[in-house]
Amino acid sequence: MADYDVIIVGAGFAGLYALYKLRKEGYSALLYEAGSGVGGVWYWNRYPGARVDVENLEYSYTFSKELEQDWQWSEQYSSQPELEAYANHVADRFDLKRDIRFGTRVTAMRFDEETDRWSVVTNQGDHVTGQYCVMATGCLSVPKEIDLPGIDNFKGKIYRTSLWPKGGVDFTGKRVGEIGTGSSGIQSIPVIAEQAAHLTVFQRTAAFSMPSQNGPTDPAKVKAWFDNRDKYHQQQRQSAFGLVMSDIAPRSAHDVSDEERRRLYEERWERGGLGIIGTFYDLLTDQKANDTAAEFVREKIRGLIEKPELAKKLLPYGHPIFTKRPCVDSGYFGTFNRDNVTLVDLREEPLETVTETGIRAGGTDYDFDILVLAIGFDAMTGALCNIDIRGRSGVSLKERWSDGPGTYLGLAVAGFPNMFLITGPGSPSVLGNMMAAIEENADWIADCIRYMDERQLTAIDATCEAQYAWVAEVNRAAAATLYPLAKSWYMGDNVAGKKRAFMPYIGGWKKYLDRCDEVAANGYEGFALAPGRATPEMAGQTCSKSTVA
Ligand code: FAD
Ligand code: NAP
Repeated sequence: MADYDVIIVGAGFAGLYALYKLRKEGYSALLYEAGSGVGGVWYWNRYPGARVDVENLEYSYTFSKELEQDWQWSEQYSSQPELEAYANHVADRFDLKRDIRFGTRVTAMRFDEETDRWSVVTNQGDHVTGQYCVMATGCLSVPKEIDLPGIDNFKGKIYRTSLWPKGGVDFTGKRVGEIGTGSSGIQSIPVIAEQAAHLTVFQRTAAFSMPSQNGPTDPAKVKAWFDNRDKYHQQQRQSAFGLVMSDIAPRSAHDVSDEERRRLYEERWERGGLGIIGTFYDLLTDQKANDTAAEFVREKIRGLIEKPELAKKLLPYGHPIFTKRPCVDSGYFGTFNRDNVTLVDLREEPLETVTETGIRAGGTDYDFDILVLAIGFDAMTGALCNIDIRGRSGVSLKERWSDGPGTYLGLAVAGFPNMFLITGPGSPSVLGNMMAAIEENADWIADCIRYMDERQLTAIDATCEAQYAWVAEVNRAAAATLYPLAKSWYMGDNVAGKKRAFMPYIGGWKKYLDRCDEVAANGYEGFALAPGRATPEMAGQTCSKSTVA
């Protein structure tokens, strides 16, 4: 059995950076990755049209100035192949692959209270130990279970956007059905429609989507970005979502005239992307303010669809804008003006069953050769609960989280010492720029390990008290917003049986980072630190629940 300082799980952007950072700090680290390559999300989601919806100037690593200057994105919002190439470039440039075991899934982890080490088992028969485990398993890395009646009847091919085959799929001359109109559906539908003989889109909830206004990278913009790089990085830290370009303006939607409000929305719509969310500070908290943005986007959708009857079906109602993850598209709505595209609104024609040849909805049979599923993920907790993780006294993480994912700062879970999460539930993570979130979390973790090492401490465990207080803060922040009004994956609504709770932290990026800094500066306040073996106080520590009502 091999022993390491740190075992890292996942070779997406989080795991790659954690490996780089911890190795640079002089620790021995081994990384396990289920896929056969690096990139995580950008390795698995190779569906046509997959690309970022945060501009690459902000969705890039910042830890190496040389890397930043050497790598040039070809578009403002780059596509999956370029993101995967970037991940490989980083892994090769910093010689990371030698410490990665590809095609190897971590299946079980157990904390040994005698040695303060994790014992880690994989599906390839590996058995290793690590003083620490860094879980870089991803917020959106586990496709949710297929919940379509009769799915096994279908005789054609089924593809999931989140597990797209490496060789691609040829849709030429094919009749295609696609279920799902979240970000993955909205990105893939226009591209598939261009190739397929016919595309039938099954929509359960119409989505709010903003145009990316994507185009080739503008060298002047890049130069301006790098000329002010340090200032922008500082601004990211001070911002609401870790994003300079989508930051929130300090004005209320109620404080301006109708014309001025419209002009401001128009300006952000023209700029493209998710920036519209920051037009006013009260769009996420005040229903009436939110209505103004929702109506602006609906008006835009009406203008993009030729047939008013069709436009009606594509108009999102029933949830405040932005409370389901907003989408960014390249020609999504215009796709429905094509002769070879049919929209089936499942609100009017409920899905009855998948048949041998297609889907029966509202009494009508829709036939096709290929079915594409863009139906989403078991977000934020899925990957961690898939591993049989056992903390103190053999307590299972999956069971501990059955009433909601309790964490301390999204970085640690009480009762699971020496295990760190990157962008875990209870951190801002998916609400903003994930690259920035990843670097912040991984740096914090590396600093913490260094702190432990310098003091010859061997176990660090969040206290129940600190975790309860943090969960209460996560819940308080969510309750102050409109987010709980939507049925969304943020709330766990998309996975049957999952406890309803707003999983990320919406209290503000700056507030979150300041709190993490403060905790570290105060000698890891809210954590119990043990020299040598776990102290009796730590061993006796059992939190009765994850969440606080
Ligand atoms: P991932 O990239 O998900 O990597 C996790 C890795 O862990 C995976 O490779 C997985 O195979 C591996 N893994 C999981 N469990 C195990 C196990 N038990 N054993 C071994 N390996 C395991 N965020 C943005 O900020 N902007 C965007 O534009 C954006 N676009 C996105 C587009 C798509 C299609 C998706 C799905 C997500 C997008 N996101 C975006 C969010 C995305 O999750 C992050 O940007 C980021 O890529 C996450 O990186 P990660 O390393 O944390 O996780
Ligand atoms: P998603 O947002 O969860 O969307 C899933 C879609 O499938 C929804 O329209 C959902 O309808 C529908 N659906 C699910 N189950 C269904 C069923 N049984 N019958 C009918 N319809 C069903 O998943 P996603 O599109 O893969 O995106 C997930 C997240 O990944 C995004 O929110 C985003 O954070 C990230 N992402 C980002 C990008 C990007 O632009 N860079 C691209 C892809 C993904 P309901 O809404 O009614 O549930």
